[in-house]
Amino acid sequence: MSILPKAPTHLLTHKPSIPSPAIIYDYDTIIRTVKQLKQDIEGIPNAILCFSVKANRNDYLLAQLASLGVGADVASVYELRAAHKAQMSPIYSTSPALTLEELDEMISHNIIFDFNSISQLTSYFEQTIDDRQAIGLRIKIPHLFEDDIVFGENSRFGIRVNEYMDWAEVSGRDVVVKQLHLHVGEIKNASSMEVIMRYIEEIIHHFPAVNTVNLGGGLTYLYSNEKEVKKTWQIVSQVMKRINRQMNREIKVVIEPGMLMLALSGYLYSTVCSSDLDGDVRTITLNSSAWNLTEWAYPEVIACYTANTDKERHNLYGNTCYENDVFIRSSMNNRLDVGDAVLLTPVGAYVSSMARTLHGYPVPDEWIFKDDTFIKAGDQHGKNSEEVLSM
Ligand SMILES: *Cc1c(COP(=O)(O)O)cnc(C)c1O
Repeated sequence: MSILPKAPTHLLTHKPSIPSPAIIYDYDTIIRTVKQLKQDIEGIPNAILCFSVKANRNDYLLAQLASLGVGADVASVYELRAAHKAQMSPIYSTSPALTLEELDEMISHNIIFDFNSISQLTSYFEQTIDDRQAIGLRIKIPHLFEDDIVFGENSRFGIRVNEYMDWAEVSGRDVVVKQLHLHVGEIKNASSMEVIMRYIEEIIHHFPAVNTVNLGGGLTYLYSNEKEVKKTWQIVSQVMKRINRQMNREIKVVIEPGMLMLALSGYLYSTVCSSDLDGDVRTITLNSSAWNLTEWAYPEVIACYTANTDKERHNLYGNTCYENDVFIRSSMNNRLDVGDAVLLTPVGAYVSSMARTLHGYPVPDEWIFKDDTFIKAGDQHGKNSEEVLSM
C-alpha cells in the first residue's frame, strides 16, 4: 500500500483520556494522506484534489482539508453548506435528485453543476429564466468491465453522450458543456483507467468548451497496489497531455476520493459492556454499535486497553438488540473484561456521515488526535465544533 496506515504509538499504548464511545481522527495521518495523494497526481497537468464530502462532513475535518488546499465534491445542499462553511474550494457537484431550489442554491455558490440525467436537464432548463448556459454532465462510460463495485454503461447515474447530443439539438438551447464527470464507483486498476481515458479522448471533441474533466473518486481498491497506482496516474497524465495539445489549452483534472482520503485516519474507541466465555470464544458487547456505525467500514482491533496479557478468541458485538450487530468475529486479541476498552480501525470515512441511530444511540463524539492530545471535533456530525474552529 502506498498510503500506509501508521497508527500513532501514543494512542496504541495509552487508553484515551476521553469518554467512550468516540471516533478519533489522527491528524498526522490526514496530513500524510493528503500530501501523498497530491504528490501522486503531481505529474498530471492541472490536477485538482478534492474530497467527497459524503464520506465525512465533520466541520472540523473539512476545515483541516480546506487548509491543506483540498476542494470538495458535494451531492446535497447540506454537504454544500458544510463545504462552504469550511471554506473548501473549488466545489464540484453532481446528484441524481436535487429540487430546482436546491439546484439554484448550488448555482448561487458559483458551482457548475454536473447534470446526471436528461430529465434533470430538461426540468432545469424549462424553468430557468436566467439562461445560464454553462453546465457539467455526468457521463456513462461504455466498454468498462463492470461488477458489483464498478459501474459504467449500466450505472444508474449519468447520461449517454449520444442521448445528450440528441437533447441538445432538440432543446434549442445554446448550452455550453464546461465539465465532464466520470465517477464509475471503483477504479480497480490501471486498465480500468485506460478505458475511461480512451473514452474521454474519443468523445471530448463533442464538447469544445470543456475546461474540466472530473474523474470522480473510488481509489481505495486501486491503492492496495502501488504499481497500479503509478500506472494509473501515468495513463491519465499521458492522455491529458494529448488532449491538451489537441485542444490547445490546459484542461483541469479533478480527482475526488472520499474513502481513501480519510478512512485510515479514523479510530473507534469503545468500552466493553459485557464479556462472557461461550465455549472457546468470548462474547463481547461494546458500548457502540456496528449496525449503527460500521456497515461500510469493516474494522479490526488495533489496540486493547486491558491489563490482561493472555490471548483469547473474541466475537465483538454492538450494543443493539439486533442479532447481526457484529463488529468482528473471531478476533484473536488480549482477553477483554468488562470495563476494558478497544480501538478499532478504519472508521474515518462513511461512519459518522452515514451513522444510524437505532435505540436512539447518538453518533459518538468526534475528536482529533494531534500532538498526543485530544481536540473535540464536534459531536453529531461536527455541529458543535464552532468553538474549536475558532480556537
Ligand atoms: C461517492 C463519490 C465519490 C467518492 O467515492 P469514494 O469511493 O469514497 O472515493 C466521488 N465522486 C462521486 C460522484 C461520488 O458519488
